[in-house]
Amino acid sequence: MLTGANVVLPTGTVRGGQVAVDGTRIADAAPAGAEVVDVTGHWLVPGFVDIHNHGGGGASFSGTAEQILTAIRTHREHGTTTLVASTVTDEMDLLVRQAGLLSELAEQGEIAGIHFEGPFISPCRKGAHSEALLRHPEPAEVRKLIDAARGHARMLTLAAELPGGIDSVRLLAEHGVIAAIGHTDATYEQTVEAIEAGATVATHLFNAMPALGHRTPGPVAALLEDERVTVELINDGTHLHPAALELAFHHAGADRVAFITDAMDAAGSGDGRYLLGPLEVEVSEGVARLVEGGSIAGSTLTLDRAFKRAVTVDGLSVEDTVKALSANPARLLGLSDRVGSLEPGKDADLVLLDADFAVKGVMRRGAWVVAPQPA
Ligand SMILES: [Zn+2]
Repeated sequence: MLTGANVVLPTGTVRGGQVAVDGTRIADAAPAGAEVVDVTGHWLVPGFVDIHNHGGGGASFSGTAEQILTAIRTHREHGTTTLVASTVTDEMDLLVRQAGLLSELAEQGEIAGIHFEGPFISPCRKGAHSEALLRHPEPAEVRKLIDAARGHARMLTLAAELPGGIDSVRLLAEHGVIAAIGHTDATYEQTVEAIEAGATVATHLFNAMPALGHRTPGPVAALLEDERVTVELINDGTHLHPAALELAFHHAGADRVAFITDAMDAAGSGDGRYLLGPLEVEVSEGVARLVEGGSIAGSTLTLDRAFKRAVTVDGLSVEDTVKALSANPARLLGLSDRVGSLEPGKDADLVLLDADFAVKGVMRRGAWVVAPQPA
């Protein structure tokens, strides 16, 4: 039984509230003899849900099972209790093999599925993806990755304007895999067509797509205006100007934004040389850039920092921030019955934040990942 916190519920914040945990779930009332932990003065919010994340703690989701578990643990310690593992562009046979490995970890409950970012993206907007390995989104190729993930493919980012793109969006939608528009050079009209075909996510809106122009509104306008689309935003202060983030947040509304990390290995680690898929990355002062060409190469963000920034820099309410970090991505993944909010019956996935929004405790499925220290 956690008592005394500002508990952020779907209906609003309860000052000095309490949350009871029984086994792995949030309960209506504390079980008999429950330990009472006084967390007065802290915020208690649902565990964060990251739908776009390549790694952390010096390890990558493109690596071995041990490395994948290191990356998961790193992000969990920063409050991410539900995580979709993202791959980057690589040889198809390597991606198929990695999907097999990641699907095993999904079956063990360690990750909530796989997000394939690339290789079906535009060479004009390749970002930190290897140009030589890009390919057109032919449905037969997309199908190979869906099959390799054995029911755990959650999302695939593609440039739908490429040959086969619209058919692939339909294929993904038919298989219950989120078609995400990103690393794209599409026009406004092409993006509308992709949304009509079933695309429902904007992969890191603004980044790796044409800018919003007054006569060429491009993907940004199409993705922002359609109520069926959830927009990913990387709130690290590097990928987006605060005004761009606020514009997107206010236009889409608090129910259609998902804050993501797009983290690479250096998240929760440090500056230095890393790999992003097959490409070398130099991380300096927390900003990851390709050694060759200097493109931004993912982030070193963790979602606790995105939370703090949203409230202290962007001026968002704690309640709206919780939607963007937990409730919205959980709903998008179809996991709202289990995670994304503090309600009886759901998994006991909780993050305890102090008054400065620093993580002081993380619980996943009823077990402390980071135990709160007595004051
Ligand atoms: Zn990414």
